[in-house]
Formats: sequence, structure tokens, C-alpha cells
Amino acid sequence: MALPPDLHMHTPLCRHATGEPADYARRALQAGLTEIGFSDHSPMRRDDFDDWRMRNDQLDEYVESVRRAQQNFPQLTIRLALEVDYLPGQEDWIRDLASRHPWDYFIGSVHYVTDTWAVDSPFQLSQWDQRDAFEVWSAYFERLTLAAASGLFQILGHADLPKKFGHRPKQDCTPLYERLIRAAAKTGCAVELNTAGLRKECREIYPSREFLLLARQHRVPITFGSDAHAADEVGRDFASAVALAREAGYTSCLTYDQRMPRLITL
Ligand code: ZN
Ligand code: FE
Ligand code: FE
Ligand code: ZN
Repeated sequence: MALPPDLHMHTPLCRHATGEPADYARRALQAGLTEIGFSDHSPMRRDDFDDWRMRNDQLDEYVESVRRAQQNFPQLTIRLALEVDYLPGQEDWIRDLASRHPWDYFIGSVHYVTDTWAVDSPFQLSQWDQRDAFEVWSAYFERLTLAAASGLFQILGHADLPKKFGHRPKQDCTPLYERLIRAAAKTGCAVELNTAGLRKECREIYPSREFLLLARQHRVPITFGSDAHAADEVGRDFASAVALAREAGYTSCLTYDQRMPRLITL
């Protein structure tokens, strides 16, 4: 069985990933992949927003580094994309980024549940002690629902990211999932199966089986991503991810060519 495209991987420009695009491409070929996509952390309007993304003046350099990999690995389809942080009010900025290069797709991710707290940051774990888990999950899903409804993104990244460190609310989160999935279904936004969760404390693919079953019911398409921050993570655990997708009833996934979805049979 051919593995689906790995549409989520980073480059050293984000300052917390190692290995050049060529290393990721080489690893992808070794792993038996035929298609990958680079989706490094997009710049914010202000470069001093945080320290784990490329600067504005590095965007062209990023595009060039992906183009170089495309030229050097003609046997591999390599997509050009960004993982874009969704923050309410930043829609114009995201449109501005979208207009600068012929991107194949944007992954819309929520990391920031407030203006200053990235919910997946290992350096801000103490924030969890000051808040109720359900409150955090609710704030997170509210933002991701706005991202899905915005129509700015082809894919939603790691949809249930707040589970990363194992902070799970006692309350039923189905209504949060349901609202998000309805918004995604309306705009045709896909949800990615992100295997990075298996490498984190939660030891689970993002999103959960429960979430995926609901997404499938609403005919929300899926993509696959390793969220590789190192070359040896490319395509990691894709067999498990495909198995999970099949269990949830999926028989196909998507990739994108200049934002046009292309169906791939699983
Ligand atoms: Zn990252
Ligand atoms: Fe992310
Ligand atoms: Fe990522
Ligand atoms: Zn990510």
C-alpha cells in the first residue's frame, strides 16, 4: 500500500527544527512516500511576537529552499505551504501572506488560546494550573472553529492539540467537536491526522478517534501529516494513521495543488 502524502513538516527557519528540506526529502523517499509538503510556521505581523517561527524577511528564503528541494528531487512531489497561526483579528495578515506566493495550501493551526499563551508550549505548562481544563479546551475550540469558518485554510492542524500534555477535561467535549466540524464541513476545510501526538505525553494521534468518527459523519475530508521537526520524523507512524482513518470510515484523503484539492484513495 502506498502511503499518503505527508503534508506537515518544518524547516530550520522556525528555529526549533533541524535538517534541511533535502534531508526531509531523502528520508521521505526512504520511507516510501511519493509526496510531501513543507508547512513551516508562518511569520507573524510582528517579528517579536514569539521566537519559534521564521521572520518576515525570511519568507522568500523559505520559498526558495522548498523550490530547491523540488528541483533536486524530481522523483518526489513537494508542495509549498505554511502552517499559519490563527488568531482572531489577524485575518488580513493571513490574506496578505496568502497573496505573496503561489502556495499549495495553508494549514490553519491554533496554538495561542490567549494573546500570549501557546497551549502546546512546554515552557508555559504552569498556565494549566491556573485554569480549568474544560475552559482551556473551550477557548481553543472556539478559535479553531473561527479558523475553520474563515475560509482562509485548506487544512486544520492537530485539531485536538490541548490534549498534548494529557490535560483532559472531565466534561463531554463532543459539542466543541461538533461545532468545529460543522464549520469545517461548510467551508470544505480538511482535518489532518497528525502523528506527532504519538510522540507526546498524550500518546495519541491528533485528533482522537471520537473526533474523526464525527468528522466522517459530516463528510469532512482528511489529510496526513507527521509534523516533522527533524528528518527522521517524516512519514512517522503513517501506517497507524491510515489504519485509524480506515476505522473511522475514510477511504480517501486529500492533497492540494495551488489550493485545489486532489483526491487520493487510501
Ligand atoms: Zn513547530
Ligand atoms: Fe502546530
Ligand atoms: Fe507543525
Ligand atoms: Zn505543528
